[in-house]
Amino acid sequence: MSAEVVVFSSAWAAEAHLVLGALTGAGVPARLRNELVAGLAGEVPFDAVRVEVLVPVEEAARAQQLVDEARQPAGADRPCPACSESNPAAFELCWSCGAELTAPPG
Ligand SMILES: [Zn+2]
Repeated sequence: MSAEVVVFSSAWAAEAHLVLGALTGAGVPARLRNELVAGLAGEVPFDAVRVEVLVPVEEAARAQQLVDEARQPAGADRPCPACSESNPAAFELCWSCGAELTAPPG
């Protein structure tokens, strides 16, 4: 049984799943940790719960590259106009406060 390393972690299970999909789709045997714990968000401090993506240590370098690519599918993260939290470009609503991220023209 080989050792595993964390190549990505997120407070958002959905984001971790996106990364997991990118890795497994490329043939990297990745798996998630803490997914069930993250489902309890609300009962535990939000920042304390991060879903981690693990891969075998021998796949770490390739996995990290895939993670970097998966993390920027449609542009860089953008800050929330209301609370300034950074959100993935694909998000329409702020994960932190729920504000709409699509800035109105003007
Ligand atoms: Zn916000």
